[in-house]
Amino acid sequence: MDAALLALKEVAKSFPSPGKSLIILESVSLEVRGTQTLAISGPSGSGKSTLLGLMAALERPDSGEIFFRGQSMRGWDEDALAAWRSASVGFIFQNFGLIPSLTALENVSLPLEILGWGLRAAAKRAAEILDELGLNGRHDHFPSQLSGGEQQRVAIGRAYAHSPALILADEPTGSLDRDTAEKVLGTLLNINSAKKTALVVVTHDDDIASRMGRRLLLNQGRIVP
Ligand code: ADP
Ligand code: MG
Repeated sequence: MDAALLALKEVAKSFPSPGKSLIILESVSLEVRGTQTLAISGPSGSGKSTLLGLMAALERPDSGEIFFRGQSMRGWDEDALAAWRSASVGFIFQNFGLIPSLTALENVSLPLEILGWGLRAAAKRAAEILDELGLNGRHDHFPSQLSGGEQQRVAIGRAYAHSPALILADEPTGSLDRDTAEKVLGTLLNINSAKKTALVVVTHDDDIASRMGRRLLLNQGRIVP
């Protein structure tokens, strides 16, 4: 069988705390395959965001190893990780994380420009994406002029505009009402099936977790078997 898109092998992570270090993830192993959808659930403080941060290489593990398409990322320096992240990962935050001083179109086109796209090509792609997400007529709105669901759709557009292999979403519907949450989830699942992008969603919402292909439960630093 082909190597997984992303594989974590016995990954551990602690954070320093007064007098000792606090173990957050003790030994986590998991694989995400190319077109999979995966829900990660668990009580508040169980390390879900930390785990997602490790998967995005925003954090380095204390021990254990992470593989991208079978290749160990252990020896990669910060530049290599940053380049990998901007090309291969789309990250979605609970609170959208849009840049308030940029319009919807600019929020989506900026990461493309950072990847080396020309201004015009980036703006054209961003406009297509916003239309795809039903945000026609909202291109020039600033985040403060958009509803929560609209802001989250802009954030989703920003996360997949560059066709990453992997989308990681940290409680993407946590600050939305149920109907809007349902729409946002539908959008993410459509992207997964239409663009063949693996999707990992951290959520403590059972309805949302049950719509994903696979579910993992995190407790006390480990995946519940
Ligand atoms: P979850 O997303 O499941 O609620 P987190 O991964 O955010 O959990 O946090 C797990 C635990 O790690 C919490 O107790 C939190 O306080 C702690 N933690 C997270 N990030 C840091 C950090 N940078 N420094 C110290 N402690 C942290
Ligand atoms: Mg969290």
